[in-house]
Formats: sequence, C-alpha cells, structure tokens
Amino acid sequence: MDQDRPAAVGWMWMGSRLGWDALTSAALSVILPSPCVCCGAALESPHERYVCDSCWVRAVRLKPPLCRCGHPTSETTPLCAACITNTYPYDGGRSAFHYVSPLREVIHAFKYGGRPALARQLADRVLAHVGPESGSTLVPVPSHASRIRERGFNPADELSRAIAASTGLTIHRALRKKRKTRAQAELGARARATNLQGAFEVERRYRGAVQGGNFTLVDDVYTTGATIRECASVLKDAGASSVHFLTVARNI
Ligand SMILES: [Zn+2]
Ligand SMILES: [Zn+2]
Repeated sequence: MDQDRPAAVGWMWMGSRLGWDALTSAALSVILPSPCVCCGAALESPHERYVCDSCWVRAVRLKPPLCRCGHPTSETTPLCAACITNTYPYDGGRSAFHYVSPLREVIHAFKYGGRPALARQLADRVLAHVGPESGSTLVPVPSHASRIRERGFNPADELSRAIAASTGLTIHRALRKKRKTRAQAELGARARATNLQGAFEVERRYRGAVQGGNFTLVDDVYTTGATIRECASVLKDAGASSVHFLTVARNI
C-alpha cells in the first residue's frame, strides 16, 4: 500500500483488490489471534504466535546419550543399530525433537500450511538444545524449483536463515535439486534412497567453496535419513572436508 494513502482509503483500496471477505478475515485476524495450529486453543499470551505454550512444552526432546546420527542410544552402546551395520557419508548430526505430535503438527503447519514465519520459533527451540557444527557453513537441503513455486518457500532455507541469524554462521545455498522426485512421504525406506539418487548437485558457483569446506546440512525432519545421506554424499564427492546435519525433528 502507498505510504501516503490515508488509512481508510487504503482499506477500501485493499477491499476492492482482495474482496471484502478476504479483507474482513484479515481485519479479524488482527483483532482475534488465530488459534494454536496444533490443539486449536486460543492464543492468549502476547508472545504466543501460531503455537500455544503448552504444545511447545509437550514437544518430545531427544536427550543424550545420542548416536553420531542423532538417534538415542545408551552409555554402554554409543552407536545405534543402524550405525553399527552401515557407514554413512555424513560425519554426524543432531535433531532436537522426536517427530511426533504435537511438534509434528507444528512442522506440518510450517511446511504445508504456508507459515514460513514459524521458522524463527522452530529455530529458537532447536538452538536451545542442539546446534550446527561449530565453525561450519550452513547448507539448506534444497527443494526442487517447482516445489518452491507451489509452496512459496523452501522450509530448509527459512530454517537456515533463522539459524544463521542466531548463530552468525554463513549460509551457502551450495546444493540444487535438479530433478523433481516423488514425495518421500509416499515411499518406503528402500524406495526413498533410490528415488533420490542423482537428484542433487553442487551449484556451479559453489564448486570451489565446497572443496575443503565444513558444512552443516539443515532440514526440517530426518525421516529415514535418505535425503541427508544423499546431500552429504554429493558434498563429500565434491571435496567437502566434513558434513554434519541439523534438523528440527527426526523419527526414531
Ligand atoms: Zn496448542
Ligand atoms: Zn546411529
């Protein structure tokens, strides 16, 4: 809206542009805060936005001891069952929360409900418990351009920006998703890995920077780890010295 347009004229102008229904709902949302995206409770305290305090409190943290892959483990067996039998291309990683309700609903609202502003709150909650590898450069897990057009944003990119703002780390958008893949959520573990093969590449302008660099891949959820492993492998093949990852949540 033009800076010098009187407010009343501005609302009328917006009304004619957006339709009065949209305007009424925009005006109401200023007066009546929207309910919690998880439980539907009215958001009451002034610092609550999108998610109520009690839903944040119920988010299930992944507490140490943790395996190198972020899976809970025990003092006596430091590696989880998967890491005993497999070698992974990443050097280690952390996820702050178990990917279960109510955090799962928060992440759904963030990714699929068009609420990129939730990245700030999610990043703050993550950084209260775990962080990116010290001194590393953040690399958001890329989305395909068509997915970004549909959604309007890349969730991993929004999270990376919020984490960079808090930690002072640099972001390199060093990876590109060159091929659209089926949604990982539709596939089983084995199909997820093959679905992603050859889907990512290092952006041409970052090829030099990747060589010898230390990186932390950032994503919202570590489900089977197939995406993180594929991205780590592409960075390692391009000469990265170390690749860690940081996600808001993971399956265990
Ligand atoms: Zn709630
Ligand atoms: Zn493990």
